Amino acid sequence: MRIPVLTYHSNNVGGNGYADNDHVALAADLRAIDRAGRRVVPLARVVDALLGEAPESDLEGAIALSFDDGSWFDWHDLDHPTCGRQRAFAGILRDFSAETGARVHATSFVIVSPEARTILDRTCLVGRGWWGDDWWPAAEREGLIAIESHSWDHNHHTLPETVQRDQRTGTFQSIDSWADADAEIRQANDWLDAHSRAPRAGLFAYPYGENNDYLKREYLPHHAGEHRLRAAFGTEPRPVEAQSDRWDLPRFVCGHHWHSPEEFERVLKSIR
Ligand SMILES: [Zn+2]
Repeated sequence: MRIPVLTYHSNNVGGNGYADNDHVALAADLRAIDRAGRRVVPLARVVDALLGEAPESDLEGAIALSFDDGSWFDWHDLDHPTCGRQRAFAGILRDFSAETGARVHATSFVIVSPEARTILDRTCLVGRGWWGDDWWPAAEREGLIAIESHSWDHNHHTLPETVQRDQRTGTFQSIDSWADADAEIRQANDWLDAHSRAPRAGLFAYPYGENNDYLKREYLPHHAGEHRLRAAFGTEPRPVEAQSDRWDLPRFVCGHHWHSPEEFERVLKSIR
C-alpha cells in the first residue's frame, strides 16, 4: 500500500497560473494523473484499507484528493475581484470526468463553525458571503465531494475569539487539553452529523497540518466514543502506507510540496 493523498486549497487564487492558482493546478494535475495511468479513489476508501476494513488490492494505482477549508470556491464558479472567473473545484472534477470518462471524487475538509466562517469570509476573502455551507448537502447528494471536518474554527488567528482556552491562536499545537480538543473536534463532528444526511467517514484534517502528542497519543486514540473519528491527516509529504499512523496520515500539499507540472510529475514518479 503506497497511496498519495493530494491537497488543494480553493481559496488559493493569487493569479491565473499554475503556481499561484490551485484551480489551474488541479485541472492540470488530474490530466497528469490520467496520463500516468493512475486513478482517483475516495479518501475514505484509503482509510478503509488502512484499517483493514477493505482489501488493499482495490487500491492498485490509486490516488486520493482532498480540499481544505471548504469555501464556495470548492463548489461555485465565482468572479474573483482581480483574477476573473474561477471554475470551482467541483466543476473541474466534472469537466475531467466528462473529458476522460474517469470517475473522480474528493473529500473537502471544511471549517465547521458558521460564525467562524462568517468572519473568515471578511478577514480572508472579500466579504461577499462566499464561505456558506449551503452547498454541502448538494455535494453529498451528487457523491462528488464528501464533507469532513477541518475543526470547529481552525483556531484561526483572524478570529476575535476561538475556542482555545487562552487564545493561543494561529496554530493547532495549542489544542492540547481535553476541553480544547472537545470544542475543536467533537463539537465540529456533532454539527456535521446533525446537518448531514449522508453517512460520514469520520475523517479529520489538522488545521495548519499541525498536531501534538496530546491529540495523537491521548485524545484521538482514547476518546473515540466522543469524537467518532477514524483517522486524521497532517501534511507530511509521503504516501499513505500500511504502517502509517492513523492519527497523523501524510498528505502532499499543492503550492507547498510542488509548484509546477514538472514538480508534480516528480511527486507522481516518487511514489511509483
Ligand atoms: Zn486549513
